Amino acid sequence: MTDFHITTDADGVATITWDVAAKSMNVMSMAGFAKLDGLIDAALADPAVKGIILTSGKKDFAGGMDLNVIAQMRTGGAQAIFDGVMQMHAVLRKIERAGMDPKTLKGGKPIVAALPGTALGIGLELPLSCHRIIAADNPKAKIGLPEIMVGIFPGAGGTTRLVRKLGAMAAAPFLLEGKLSDPKKAKAAGLIDEVVAPEDLLTRAKEWVLTAKDADLVKPWDAKGYKMPGGTPYHPAGFMTFVGASAMVNGKTQGVYPAAKALLSAVYEGALVPFDTALKIEARQFTSVLMNPSSTAMIRSLFINKEALEKGANRPQVADQKVAKLGVIGAGMMGAGIAYVAANAGIAVVLIDATLEAAERGRAHSESLLDKGMKRGKVTAEKKAEVLARITATADYTALAGCDLIVEAVFEDPKVKAEVTAKVEAAVGPDCIFATNTSTLPITALAKASARPDQFIGIHFFSPVDKMMLVEIIRGKETGDRAVAKALDFVRQIRKTPIVVNDARFFYANRCIIPYINEGIRMVAEGVEPALIENAAKLVGMPLGPLQLVDETSIDLGVKIAKATRAAMGDAYPDGAVDEVIFRMADQGRLGRKANAGFYTYSDKGERLGLWEGLAAAWPVADAQPDLAAVQHRLLMAQVLEAVRALEDGVLTDIREGDVGAILGWGFAPWSGGPFGWLDILGAARAVEICDNLAASHGPRFAAPALLRDMATKGETFYQTAVSQAA
Ligand code: NAD
Repeated sequence: MTDFHITTDADGVATITWDVAAKSMNVMSMAGFAKLDGLIDAALADPAVKGIILTSGKKDFAGGMDLNVIAQMRTGGAQAIFDGVMQMHAVLRKIERAGMDPKTLKGGKPIVAALPGTALGIGLELPLSCHRIIAADNPKAKIGLPEIMVGIFPGAGGTTRLVRKLGAMAAAPFLLEGKLSDPKKAKAAGLIDEVVAPEDLLTRAKEWVLTAKDADLVKPWDAKGYKMPGGTPYHPAGFMTFVGASAMVNGKTQGVYPAAKALLSAVYEGALVPFDTALKIEARQFTSVLMNPSSTAMIRSLFINKEALEKGANRPQVADQKVAKLGVIGAGMMGAGIAYVAANAGIAVVLIDATLEAAERGRAHSESLLDKGMKRGKVTAEKKAEVLARITATADYTALAGCDLIVEAVFEDPKVKAEVTAKVEAAVGPDCIFATNTSTLPITALAKASARPDQFIGIHFFSPVDKMMLVEIIRGKETGDRAVAKALDFVRQIRKTPIVVNDARFFYANRCIIPYINEGIRMVAEGVEPALIENAAKLVGMPLGPLQLVDETSIDLGVKIAKATRAAMGDAYPDGAVDEVIFRMADQGRLGRKANAGFYTYSDKGERLGLWEGLAAAWPVADAQPDLAAVQHRLLMAQVLEAVRALEDGVLTDIREGDVGAILGWGFAPWSGGPFGWLDILGAARAVEICDNLAASHGPRFAAPALLRDMATKGETFYQTAVSQAA
């Protein structure tokens, strides 16, 4: 079986069909590209062929390049990547020129792309090299160039062609933000040329091939007198575009994403030169991005490993545990959100609170989210009715009969949780799995309230539940495999990404976030300029500075956690310096965003204005300030060392989960691929050196864990070690 095959009909129209064997979606490989090249050569050379339709044998056109191939390309070095990309350009350019005389631009064979459904990445770059793009009117189809989302950019001519087709300004959302559109919107934006009824797709494509004139095959940029829409960089309008775009890209990426910068350079420099030179520039910039370890790390965590975890990489071998009826206990912020995502995924939900009114308030949360969706045209009235009909709000535990999974989200109080556990177990069948959404209480201890601790597990959602994609599954000491499988199958049903960790204080995500927040607060106490702390975090790719983060999650929660941790740890408690700051903030009623006052000030409407000037009065800013890198090392190492310790302790058993969980759970510098990705980029030896310096000046919390020190001695990396262990 090959990825492409060709048939030619009696009218001389050849159809090249893309149909990768044993895959539900076409993806491009180097072998596939070579095959396509051969078929194009043959069709162009065959006098019996008048024109070509390029289509798919599947319901979609293509999902893009096989990202595993891209990840491997790096191993050949820069020259090999550049040569490979230039070969792709040559094939696509051949399609675009289609045998025409380069001087007269006549005599080419028409080539049309007929897209039955989704066309992403190379799946759109290839059509962009054709002479016309016709798509089936399939509202589920997604058309676009999402490469930037995984740390690369469209490097098979998509960047150069789209900018020349639409102009830099109009192409920007598709290239820089990876915006995807359905066929009608793609046509309105000028991405594709025509949308037809699905049953007419191939007839219309053939009709176009048979009626196309020489002029229809000439791309604007190959015709005489071509001017780029919106102007080139030195045109007054173009000048404005590029100045603005450059500022926007730097503002959004803080300069830490090499792909966005390289993309902009490819567009800017490419706009100044002829088309074929622009392709070469695109190839050079693309090569530089692939050679940057950030792109490898991002592809690995955000695509390959994220998908592997979603498909159940660490799922125990237990029969399918799909959830049919879910019980959610506690209809507060979290419970209401969990009920919504489950009902939205087609699961029947019983939502329980202490009173019927409270349960109904929880159900109303779904209604308001669905209403918002309707306003944005994403949800129909039928869908809203269907989802709401799946949620039964009640205070009556007998309604839980027949539930196969319970998620408990009542107050964070072991006594309340224990009561609820007993009440639930009295109402459900013997096979029902019980999960708690606790964010801090050890699962093993909570399981003591259960008569069947092997069926007791932690399923930790993040807030807001409908937006946050990570779910942390926590195995208690006695949790059995079926409970783990159940949790994983549930997370798959609601289309989120799971990680499975072992039970320990704060599990994984919170264990790493708390030291990040604490390090920021410690610096305030030391007299580090608060703006330096916040900006240092953002300039290294953290979405929120530590002070903004604690304002968002609330300072009184910080106080509560600090008190509980101090009680549990006694004299070993290390964070007294942090408590001095947050206790004082809490005493003054500065509880964070919810109080409209915290480390930041807020307007009456709740808009964040700026850092609170009163901070300097309480914790005077020191004359000597640390440099940016020193602050960044402290903020990153605080998180990363905790991740390494979690691995050492066996809380994490798979670094892939550590990295994917960090990016999706708390936005850990995505450019780095996660904490372990960052340490690999840095190298263990350099990481240990940074730790030694930090430990000398700031204390033993920065001491390099033995695992890291050992890797530094042996010259190992986390991912190499993981690969060799798996082999
Ligand atoms: P919340 O106060 O908004 O909601 C708790 C709900 O439980 C309330 O509606 C309350 O009436 C109900 N409840 C209390 N006792 C009950 C009982 N005996 N029977 C039935 N219902 C009862 O709290 P929340 O923020 O939704 O948190 C719930 C759980 O989720 C906690 O364990 C918390 O630690 C955890 N959690 C919270 C977050 C977060 O960001 N807020 C994130 C992850 C996990």
